[in-house]
Amino acid sequence: MTIEYQYDLVIVGGGPAGSSTAYEASKNGIKVALLEREETIAQSVRTSGVTWIQNIKEFGIPDDCYNPIKNYSFCSPNNEVTIRDTIPQAAVLDVRKTYRWLAEQAKNEGTDIFLKTNIKDVIKNKEGDIVGVSGTSNQEDIIFHSKVVVDASGFSSTVSKAMGFVTQWERFGVGAEYEVEAENVDQETWWLMVGQKYSPAGYAWIFPVGKNIVRIGVGVGKPESSVDPTERLKELMDSKIGPISKLGKITPIEFHYGLIPNDGLSRKTVYNNLILVGDSAGQANPLVLEGIRYAIKFGRVAGKIASDAIKSGKTDEIALYPYEENWRKDIQAKIKSAGKVQDRWIGLSDEEWDNELDIIKELKPEEFLDFIKADFGLASMIKLATRHPKLAVRQLFNLVKSKNK
Ligand SMILES: Cc1cc2nc3c(=O)[nH]c(=O)nc-3n(C[C@H](O)[C@H](O)[C@H](O)COP(=O)(O)OP(=O)(O)OC[C@H]3O[C@@H](n4cnc5c(N)ncnc54)[C@H](O)[C@@H]3O)c2cc1C
Repeated sequence: MTIEYQYDLVIVGGGPAGSSTAYEASKNGIKVALLEREETIAQSVRTSGVTWIQNIKEFGIPDDCYNPIKNYSFCSPNNEVTIRDTIPQAAVLDVRKTYRWLAEQAKNEGTDIFLKTNIKDVIKNKEGDIVGVSGTSNQEDIIFHSKVVVDASGFSSTVSKAMGFVTQWERFGVGAEYEVEAENVDQETWWLMVGQKYSPAGYAWIFPVGKNIVRIGVGVGKPESSVDPTERLKELMDSKIGPISKLGKITPIEFHYGLIPNDGLSRKTVYNNLILVGDSAGQANPLVLEGIRYAIKFGRVAGKIASDAIKSGKTDEIALYPYEENWRKDIQAKIKSAGKVQDRWIGLSDEEWDNELDIIKELKPEEFLDFIKADFGLASMIKLATRHPKLAVRQLFNLVKSKNK
């Protein structure tokens, strides 16, 4: 038997992008279904959960969902720097709590959440436009008819692939991480570890989650490196090199693994009756491969624009285009600049990384944060370049500036 439903808006994927789209669309008074293939929201964690307190406040995420960070440590094979701030500006999220809070917000506004619902295909009208999705829910065949569909399925981009609009990401990051209990934890300080032994194309990290829990992980860029991040992570934890040694005794609690696109903003994100948001749209900052804040922010934009379009009775690509315009205006130039810095970082030898850390040492906390967040406004970049007369620092900023033109 096939179960059939009719909704105004169907969202595939109950991650931060999907829940945020659902929240905003439901708030705008339309009938919304949020479909998630796992048994619960955030059953598997596929992210390290670093984000920024300014965004957390803007989204209204509760204080008990994150651990604040105010010191930013970097180490390369023969160099080390800690940038100390007076107030915390970064945070490590309790990912499950946050993602469930986002979904709960949507539910409270009226979204129907379907768990254990795995979408495999699309339904098209005679013009070839999407008018629904199909799959299985609790082992039964299920069909959702819909005026607009949002592909918030993350890296897999299930809906857009089934429509034939996209193919697999060619450039992406693979990350493996253990959440562990550790003997000695500095809750306010994160570590980014760079150089060949940590990751040949990427970085390793220690992110404190609160109390004596940290996430230790390794991210590797594909296709640049063939290293398996899970194996490299085990090697680093066994050999306890660099800042991992300072943690003392480590007891693993949970393993996390995930993929994140790193192809820049290459995808078109609106079609007739269809929007792509979050990782399916490639909305990630390539410098540290973070996308949660974009998933939430542009999920909300997608929810508002899709629901307005549905109410107006016009849901073609032109009607949905303001969504693409909105996010491109906000982040396109910044992401392009960040991509250029990332290209430079991926090619660095150990010795060059040692030197790069000398450049980072020159930065004030807010300058460092603007940089790592890819907040490359032209005015702030010019200010930075004039404030730092050292040639190497200027070179880095010129790299960013030239791409912004
Ligand atoms: C190792 C790693 C570390 C990261 N660290 C950070 C970080 O520190 N900070 C940061 O901001 N970002 C980080 N990211 C990126 C961040 O996780 C993503 O940008 C973010 O999760 C994107 O949200 P999303 O909702 O688009 O996708 P996702 O979070 O991937 O959510 C997609 C959802 O769709 C569901 N789904 C998929 N296919 C189907 C289907 N066919 N049917 C039904 N449901 C489906 C999935 O189960 C999932 O729940 C990291 C990524 C990785 C891989």
